Amino acid sequence: MGKVKGFMEFQRALPDDRLPLERIKDWQEFHKKMSAEELQQQGARCMDCGTPYCHTGMMLSGMTMGCPIHNLVPEWNDLVYNGFWQDAYERLAKTNNFPEFTGRVCPAPCEGSCVLGIIEPPVTIKNIEYSIIERAFTDDWVAPKQILHRTGKRVAVVGSGPSGLACADQLNKAGHSVTVFERDNRLGGLLMYGIPNMKLDKQLVVERRISLMRQEGIAFMESTDVGVDYPADKLLEEFDAVVLCTGATKPRDLPIEDRDISGVHFAMEFLRSSTKAVLDSTEPALSAKGKHVVVIGGGDTGTDCVATSLRQGCKSVLQLEIMPKPPVDRQSDNPWPEWPKVFKVDYGQEEAAAVQGEDPRRYSMTACKFIANEQGVLSAVEVSAVEWIKVHGRFVPQPVAGTEEMIPADLVLLAMGFVGPEEHLLQQLQIAQDERSNIRANDKNYLTNREHIFAAGDARRGQSLVVWAIHEGRAAARECDRFLMGETHLP
Ligand SMILES: Cc1cc2nc3c(=O)[nH]c(=O)nc-3n(C[C@H](O)[C@H](O)[C@H](O)COP(=O)(O)OP(=O)(O)OC[C@H]3O[C@@H](n4cnc5c(N)ncnc54)[C@H](O)[C@@H]3O)c2cc1C
Ligand code: SF4
Repeated sequence: MGKVKGFMEFQRALPDDRLPLERIKDWQEFHKKMSAEELQQQGARCMDCGTPYCHTGMMLSGMTMGCPIHNLVPEWNDLVYNGFWQDAYERLAKTNNFPEFTGRVCPAPCEGSCVLGIIEPPVTIKNIEYSIIERAFTDDWVAPKQILHRTGKRVAVVGSGPSGLACADQLNKAGHSVTVFERDNRLGGLLMYGIPNMKLDKQLVVERRISLMRQEGIAFMESTDVGVDYPADKLLEEFDAVVLCTGATKPRDLPIEDRDISGVHFAMEFLRSSTKAVLDSTEPALSAKGKHVVVIGGGDTGTDCVATSLRQGCKSVLQLEIMPKPPVDRQSDNPWPEWPKVFKVDYGQEEAAAVQGEDPRRYSMTACKFIANEQGVLSAVEVSAVEWIKVHGRFVPQPVAGTEEMIPADLVLLAMGFVGPEEHLLQQLQIAQDERSNIRANDKNYLTNREHIFAAGDARRGQSLVVWAIHEGRAAARECDRFLMGETHLP
């Protein structure tokens, strides 16, 4: 159980990050590593709770509580404390196909519900996970496994994001012949062209895993948009089952005055073009260089836009958030083990503060209209403060008259979330959608209204997290295997 009273002996500690002013000069990852001794002390802090909330993985008050893939956290904390790193890796691999992704980008709902968090800062679960898997790769414990028995069944997975990859990995382990279709030229979904390289290295981390999966027998068809380059009907003819993991890639728009002028873009256009340029060693098609950038949206995507703009050499960057600034400490209506809705400084804001002298976020603020110059090109955004007023029992934002101000802007990036999956393929396959436009498939059998078509990931649950996508991919694979074989041994 870690070390008895270890949590009283050792403070929570994380490795240093590279310094903000240094790391914005390149696109390399910014987290540093901790020594094995330091990690052992962090593992020692785990209390091996009788009821460990860290691995519950439930929704509570609309937020994730504990690990959605039920990582065996107390077990690997103890193994790390005792120096049994390979056993810790084997325990981790039981529940998580890709700890190297979650160990880097997961917001760690496990830490939000760690029991130690009631009285002390929680166990550093995410960093221990990251350290276990990187050690496993370094020491060659992660090796391609030969699949000894093939069932003769063929499964198509459409989409190569974390849900598609997890689904393909599980189905391949069950002995099915799996083909993953991806419309982009590189595999990984938002792991590749969404989350920027400094958070998740594409060549060293994402492609490392995909290469292993290829060696284990999974076929990948990049640059193949199903429904465009590959007829949807052909899928049904050539495969015994199909799993749709196409993501929720339709961005939320901001239909205010002059929305269509040149200079206003969706965040994903910007992030995609940036990562593509980094990987192809070219100039990005859409760049923040020398520009005043305004990012609209205070979430993770917005933060990635801030950090990317700084690396491209923007003149300034500002991030607008329509919600009020969160409190520093948990409030009484947000008790443990709920996800703590508290003020946080993420890497992008830390970098912006180092360059510009202050946090780039402005809270309770909305954009009212875009302003064009004489050439019809964006030159400013008119913004105003908002207050949240209860209408028919729901809080809605209202601009506050008299608070309008003009912010200079050459580039606006809309990072306000996503509203569901794209529809061309769904229409061709006659897949039913729910009231939020996500693919209708329940979380018992992941089956759509078509008999042998399953769905998983953001396309089914709406824009979410990498860890939920892995959970969904694994669960859909289990149900698909049951459908194909009449029973399943997949977890
Ligand atoms: C900018 C950004 C940053 C994020 N940062 C984080 C983070 O730090 N931590 C975190 O946990 N989550 C983060 N998320 C959310 C996370 O990336 C997603 O929840 C997750 O990737 C969803 O996985 P998925 O497999 O369902 O879909 P996706 O990753 O969206 O993959 C879907 C794939 O399907 C492909 N596709 C779609 N239609 C077709 C078709 N017809 N034929 C072939 N291929 C098709 C798409 O090209 C895409 O590659 C972020 C999201 C964004 C946008
Ligand atoms: S809740 Fe925290 S202290 Fe308890 S077992 Fe999980 S990681 Fe350890």
